[in-house]
Amino acid sequence: MARRLSFQRATAKPLWSQNICVLDLVLDWPRTGIEKRRNARVESVLAAVRVAPSKTEIREFPMPDIPQDGALLKMEVAGICGTDVRLYREPPSSAPVIMGHENIGYIAKTGSEFTKRQGFKEGDLVFLEHYVSCGQCEWCHLGQYRHCENTDWRYNPSAIRYGYTRADAAPHLWGGFAQYVYLPWNAVVHHVPKGVTPELAGLATPMSNGIEWSLFDGGVGYNSTVLIQGPGQQGLSQTVICKQAGASLIIVTGTSRDGARIEVAKVLGADYVINVEKEDPLARIKEITGGKGVDVVLDCTAGAGTTPILLGVEALKRRGGTMVVQGEIAEFPNFPIGRITAKAITIKSARGHSYKACELALQQLASKRFPLERLTTHKFGLHDVDLAIRSVGGQGVPGVIHASLMPWQ
Ligand SMILES: [Zn+2]
Ligand SMILES: [Zn+2]
Repeated sequence: MARRLSFQRATAKPLWSQNICVLDLVLDWPRTGIEKRRNARVESVLAAVRVAPSKTEIREFPMPDIPQDGALLKMEVAGICGTDVRLYREPPSSAPVIMGHENIGYIAKTGSEFTKRQGFKEGDLVFLEHYVSCGQCEWCHLGQYRHCENTDWRYNPSAIRYGYTRADAAPHLWGGFAQYVYLPWNAVVHHVPKGVTPELAGLATPMSNGIEWSLFDGGVGYNSTVLIQGPGQQGLSQTVICKQAGASLIIVTGTSRDGARIEVAKVLGADYVINVEKEDPLARIKEITGGKGVDVVLDCTAGAGTTPILLGVEALKRRGGTMVVQGEIAEFPNFPIGRITAKAITIKSARGHSYKACELALQQLASKRFPLERLTTHKFGLHDVDLAIRSVGGQGVPGVIHASLMPWQ
């Protein structure tokens, strides 16, 4: 529905009906001679919209019409990660955006064609990937939707990606910090296994990144030795996956601010933890490994500049190690290319997750093999999106590991 609605809140309180906020709205139709104003009852959806750097407003959007090949997701949990912290502070564009790209919810409405194609029906609890596929390219056929141009906002200005796509164009609901999210025919959806709560399923994204980065990219497996830098939700998820995969040595680094996270890292499988502010991390890693260094380094730090990469290069074994990097810095002065080739290091890019990684992550969550409830530390309501993002960034509520945004609270 492309028509823009302007509305006033009626004096009466919102009526809550079947979890759909029904408001009395006054529609402003185009003034064609006679001013046409009339009262109408329109279902609307509340969403937290990023309107400027570090600024959120609660806005109402019209409930979208669901076509035969589309569906509607009633949001339960939107996970918040370090990417949200960065994109909230430095938005890639000035357009209004409903953030929220790690989304869990119930299918509230489906068109018959959507059910036929995708196999989901109303009432299913699902994990929604934030990539929206084209369904035709080589990457889509491989289940590597993250690489599809249709969802690549860096190169394609009209790319669709949950949590990134502008909210001022219908059907508006392209982010999880909202009561409902719109699912087009090409949304990538996974069933959440029985016994996994929506809040636990909120870990599907960091866990699938854990599988993609450590197993598929880093090649971690039986008897691997691994250095995981940064004990946030991402580093802790990597810890779980490396442990499950049979790594014989897991070292996790953090700073003094990470006290609680470091403790959780030990519970989840870290063999050693290093406070890089109190100890010389390289000396300690050499000591732990008997001078050998590690097979794989995973960079899960945020805002640490070039330091984790430089440490990783030196902490890797003498030859043939692998380092998976996030590369959030634009430039790397004095990049140690000579050291990298001398040690025959393979550098890989940490970039989201494949379909397979998501499925494995959901199975891992269902196994209940690790006390992952230690990660889901905080819940925030829709009106606290600003506080929630700041808290994940270490500047709000202390002690947050994984924050769940609950849009109905
Ligand atoms: Zn994320
Ligand atoms: Zn594609």
